[in-house]
Amino acid sequence: MAKPGLGARHQAIAAIIRKRAAAGEPCHLCGQPIDTRPPEQGGPAPRTRWSFSLDHITPRSKGGQSTLANARPSHYGCNSRRGNGSSNRKTWRPRRW
Ligand SMILES: [Zn+2]
Repeated sequence: MAKPGLGARHQAIAAIIRKRAAAGEPCHLCGQPIDTRPPEQGGPAPRTRWSFSLDHITPRSKGGQSTLANARPSHYGCNSRRGNGSSNRKTWRPRRW
């Protein structure tokens, strides 16, 4: 499931952060727990409001590094809403939360 372009280091960090979320570390943006289960086990579908996402405290677009110190668990929706400051991401409508 490696994503081309992100690199082994990023993959390793994402795996660690996901485990921390699974162990109970909440979303660092909204403070709610994150359901890291796969969809077939009742978890949220990928790239939806409540799915797991690795957030970079300093966005990579602003020079943030793929390091554990710069990484926190978040919800995909929370992460998308915050964006990286550059964005035209309008795929998320902050309505019902
Ligand atoms: Zn959140």
